[in-house]
Amino acid sequence: MAYKFIDNYKERGARKKLVTLLRNRGIEDEKVLEAIGKVPRHFFFDETFWNQAYKDIAFPIGDGQTISQPYTVAYQTELLHIKKNDKVLEIGTGSGYQTCILLELGAKVVTIERQPNLYERTTKVLTGMGYKAKFILGDGSLGSVEDAPFNKIIVTAGAPLVPDVLLRQLKIGGILVIPVGNESEQKMITVLRVGENEFEKIVLDTFRFVPLVGDQAW
Ligand code: SAM
Repeated sequence: MAYKFIDNYKERGARKKLVTLLRNRGIEDEKVLEAIGKVPRHFFFDETFWNQAYKDIAFPIGDGQTISQPYTVAYQTELLHIKKNDKVLEIGTGSGYQTCILLELGAKVVTIERQPNLYERTTKVLTGMGYKAKFILGDGSLGSVEDAPFNKIIVTAGAPLVPDVLLRQLKIGGILVIPVGNESEQKMITVLRVGENEFEKIVLDTFRFVPLVGDQAW
């Protein structure tokens, strides 16, 4: 796929409309909406599909994977309550769109992708766009021991359970956001680490993600 980094009035206008749509769908965090308004989502699409980039839909990005729906990205990001300089682990880099949103919010991002093609392509695309993150090729269901502990962890693929190993890589006060369920639908779950061995879990809305595949996954 060939990517072009041209952000003209048409795409900027479509992006503004997407922000309004997400606000109307219930996203309240203005910083998250601002980040959505900044990141050119069409940069993650081949030019042939730019007309799809600002629809509130997931879209195929090759290798059997998708760029997440903007609403889902906004929803998960809002739950993370990102503060500037938060150290964030993202599991499932995919297109890198979610990574850019986290970076726009001032997070320091470590992102893990298990598929070599996506890892290579996304590292190139984000670097070309001027974004800096630590890109790791590997099984994110195990987290990243070498980079832990994290203020926040976001999982962007559907897991069968909340991996204990990820909870252990959270700082106290840290938040994990992860979709958990079966292969056809998952509930969004947030876990707040309140103490060494104390965690508060909240179960939220239903989503449909591609599966998290790995040691602590499917
Ligand atoms: N957040 C991405 C975006 O904005 O485009 C979308 C992610 S896509 C829905 C899920 C990604 O998780 C896929 O790229 C898939 O290859 C990856 N994945 C699945 N299991 C994984 C694992 N154990 N470790 C790392 N990545 C994984």
